[in-house]
Amino acid sequence: MSTQQPILSVRDIKVEFQIKDAKGWPWTPPRSLKAVNGISFDLHAGETLGVVGESGCGKSTLARALLNLNPANSGSITWMGQEMQGATDAAWMAVRKDIQMIFQDPLASLDPRMTVAQIIAEPLRTHHPDMPQDEVMDKVRAIMGRVGLTAHQINRYPHEFSGGQCQRIGIARALIQQPKLIVCDEPVSALDVSIQAQIINLLKELQAEFGLALIFIAHDLAVVRHISHSIMVMYLGRAMEFAQKRALYEDPQHPYTQALLSAIPIPDPELERCKVIQLLQGDLPSPLNPPSGCVFRTRCPKAQSACADQVPELRATSGGSQAACVLI
Ligand code: SF4
Repeated sequence: MSTQQPILSVRDIKVEFQIKDAKGWPWTPPRSLKAVNGISFDLHAGETLGVVGESGCGKSTLARALLNLNPANSGSITWMGQEMQGATDAAWMAVRKDIQMIFQDPLASLDPRMTVAQIIAEPLRTHHPDMPQDEVMDKVRAIMGRVGLTAHQINRYPHEFSGGQCQRIGIARALIQQPKLIVCDEPVSALDVSIQAQIINLLKELQAEFGLALIFIAHDLAVVRHISHSIMVMYLGRAMEFAQKRALYEDPQHPYTQALLSAIPIPDPELERCKVIQLLQGDLPSPLNPPSGCVFRTRCPKAQSACADQVPELRATSGGSQAACVLI
């Protein structure tokens, strides 16, 4: 555990959307969708927080709230000691030099009308409009080389690149201002497995070289294992378990984490044959109508009647993690 001050502290943030029923009457009041419901964590320089959960659990909304792209309705976001919740657009603009984002669909996240040089240089043009062109291009070439692209690709367009190369362009764009934190929103979900490993290894190398903090979002605990120092498992907007990597993978405490881990294939045929897979029944409930009490109870193999009555808070467990379950 780091003794330094965290660069990012998030406390009890909530992001809520008002959804109008398309089939309802004009006077029917909108319904509230709590996409992120009381998430807290600290992140230190050089560390990676993995955020895992099924589609619709709120992890991308959480990522966007950290950059004020979907502003949080309540709670606290402290960046380098500065409270950002309710901060002005100018204050957020200044912070965005230090917090960058990488997106899930590498090709869709790049403007097809811009060359690679223009795409990678865009953050410099926004935050340093007076920087001489030669200096901008030197920085673009240097960062292209660092992420595994070559200088002769500088005037090409995104459609001329593979998915993995497009993600390298996205990483170069995020890195060119030497940020302190990169929020990676499912950066490898759309890539082949072999390319996923290349991108994860590249992010680890860049983290070691630049002391970057990363928030790495994925829907699969296998993907975040190699890059994360700590991991948060989310379900319907809430944190189910939060733990250091070793504690989570060796001694998962929450029934949801246990089910997610049991679904990861083991590369040993003997062990894989003996493994008990904890299948989750049904689909994720609608976040517009979440279950009462523990939001996981409709799919939890250990659910009891008491689980419908109270919303379990994250509590320290004997395994060293924090889990939100009445059994703990
Ligand atoms: S509180 Fe109940 S339903 Fe929720 S995870 Fe624990 S046992 Fe399962």
